[in-house]
Amino acid sequence: MNQQVFQTPIDYLKGVGTARADVLKKELGIFNYGDLLRHFPFKYIDRTRFYKVRDVNAELPHVQVIARVTHKEILGEKHTKRLIVHAMDDTGIMELAWFQGIKWVEKTIIVGKAYIIFGKPSEFNGKTQMAHPEVEPYSPDSLKRMSNLTLQPGYNSTEKLKSYSLDSRGLQKLMANLLEQCLRDVSETLPLYIIQKFKLMSRAEAFRYIHFPENARQLHEARHRLKFEELFFIQLKLLKNKLIRTQKFKGNVFDKVGHYFNTFYQEKIPFPLTGAQKKVLKEIRLDTQRGVQMNRLLQGDVGSGKTVVALMTMLLAIDNGFQACIMAPTEILANQHFISIQSLVGDGFVEVALLTGSTKKKDRKVLHEKLLNGELKILIGTHALIEDAVQFQNLGLVVIDEQHRFGVEQRAKLWKKNIVPPHILVMTATPIPRTLAMTLYGDLDVSVIDELPAGRKPIETLHFYESQRLQMYGLIKREIAIGRQVYVVYPLIQESEKLDLKNLMDGFETMSHEFPKPQYQVSIVHGKLKPAEKDEEMQRFVKGETHIMVATTVIEVGVNVPNASVMIIENAERFGLSQLHQLRGRVGRGAEQSYCLLMSGNKLSREGKIRLETMVRTNNGFEISEIDLQLRGPGNVEGTQQSGVLDLKLADLALDQELLMQARKTVEDIFAKDPQLALPENQILHLSFQTRNGGLSWDKIS
Ligand code: ADP
Ligand code: MG
Repeated sequence: MNQQVFQTPIDYLKGVGTARADVLKKELGIFNYGDLLRHFPFKYIDRTRFYKVRDVNAELPHVQVIARVTHKEILGEKHTKRLIVHAMDDTGIMELAWFQGIKWVEKTIIVGKAYIIFGKPSEFNGKTQMAHPEVEPYSPDSLKRMSNLTLQPGYNSTEKLKSYSLDSRGLQKLMANLLEQCLRDVSETLPLYIIQKFKLMSRAEAFRYIHFPENARQLHEARHRLKFEELFFIQLKLLKNKLIRTQKFKGNVFDKVGHYFNTFYQEKIPFPLTGAQKKVLKEIRLDTQRGVQMNRLLQGDVGSGKTVVALMTMLLAIDNGFQACIMAPTEILANQHFISIQSLVGDGFVEVALLTGSTKKKDRKVLHEKLLNGELKILIGTHALIEDAVQFQNLGLVVIDEQHRFGVEQRAKLWKKNIVPPHILVMTATPIPRTLAMTLYGDLDVSVIDELPAGRKPIETLHFYESQRLQMYGLIKREIAIGRQVYVVYPLIQESEKLDLKNLMDGFETMSHEFPKPQYQVSIVHGKLKPAEKDEEMQRFVKGETHIMVATTVIEVGVNVPNASVMIIENAERFGLSQLHQLRGRVGRGAEQSYCLLMSGNKLSREGKIRLETMVRTNNGFEISEIDLQLRGPGNVEGTQQSGVLDLKLADLALDQELLMQARKTVEDIFAKDPQLALPENQILHLSFQTRNGGLSWDKIS
């Protein structure tokens, strides 16, 4: 076993040398043998079949033909410059085109010679064309060389690499050299009993066959093995962290249910809790009695009633002699929490305060004192809570709203606010699919509120095309006439910020024209306003002084105006699913029927259409997030962007759900039986883990 081999600089590999090593590093981030080994093919090409030119059409995937070049010319100037090549076999002529690397390709292609041409056919001006195909001089030899490889690996390459002869084919040659030299050094990372149980391919075999499979089955098994390994070690790390946390950190014990909790529950709560809310409270109760720090993620769709659950958990903390705080990502949200919590507990019941960036110095001082002497029980605020000046007498619980906006480091800072770290309850209104939650928050326990309070009318969602705009105005007028308020939201995307802002302003003009003063009042809010102006406009709407709020997505999160019953989303096709769902969640907060109107242009992409249809069909955030995952892939699901956890090389959280469950379960079973990984058969896991994490031991990463 010699893992050191994989640290060998790529310069030393046969066929590389300094110049190529440089481009490999720059273009693909391949620095050493191990990096190259993990540069997996992104496709495999069935190279046993050759097409005739006549049969090539744009519907086909990558195909190969053998044809003779009859003509080549460079057309156009500057950015329209292109190389066009005609190639012919006994059935017809086809066109090949290059838009980059023109000079180099032009030099290598010789009129009159036959080539094996491989690429994806497309249609251009009614003709079949291949853009940037791979071409290789044809000779009976080249065919023979290929015949022992039925599935050819296709590697990502770049124009730069190609000019160093490192196209897919060139990389393939390097890979063959690499495997020949060090396949025997590839060591196993998984215990034998797991390999046997799941009938996995050995690791060395898997690396060999993922690059050079002899048949489809072998390829499948190789990928399966490496995907399992990838998911397994992520889960191992997450669950090990969780284990360390529960062993290392004591937790405050909330074993009393006392005055605050009981009085609130018996006298103050304005509605019966839903079954789901009760279930979650039970989970929290159990979790906070064990003497272990709670780290719980509370998922619940917008409007599912997370706030009251958070409040009751805080009251529990207070009953046990602790203080509690809520941290929200924006001032508006912190404000709203403050208002809703205050209205839930009423006057004189428990001392609640708000701390944000705009809290005055003088008030701040009082607040700090009351926190230190324990008078102040509940503190609600923004990042301002993390500041060192904020010291609690005895902080027992931290509620974090909208998790994905806070980093892990910020979480950690809060932990340090007490000797025994406070319990953590993370609330998110962005439902994420199970597999994602398991990977992103795999070290947290998860509670789900999967039920809306009774009696709430589901929001009716309609999709209108531009031509139905008048109908939309009609609906707005009708709703305003019965005293309701309306949001009109425009996209604001960084790349087209100027244009979007113009759209928004135009929209505001149109609205103001269609809904004239003094009968109607229209507000506008967008990111370019000063915070104070923004706040003032929001407040006017919150107070009901304006009827229509024209805005960008700044209102997306958390704003609560129960009287607003209509959400109009302009250019709805440009929003992602989870954003649409979040926006829709701004209405339907009162007892009245609410509406969400999705306005779109007449032409929709396939994906855009699925998104809008999904919105019309369902109000269920979890269902929507699953579809989002299928449509866009895990890296693009809202709330996952900053997470390195999702840098998966092979596994796909949308497609490999079952495998993930299997990996998770396996790790759970291992820790249940052998939490220290002390059994001889689990020794290998220690070692593998350390190699994967750059020699870091678990104690250091916890
Ligand atoms: P979110 O989960 O989006 O934070 P909130 O906690 O803001 O939801 O609750 C949304 C609304 O539903 C609030 O007005 C709240 O008072 C109300 N609510 C919460 N729980 C219930 C319940 N069990 N029955 C009726 N209304 C409820
Ligand atoms: Mg909320």
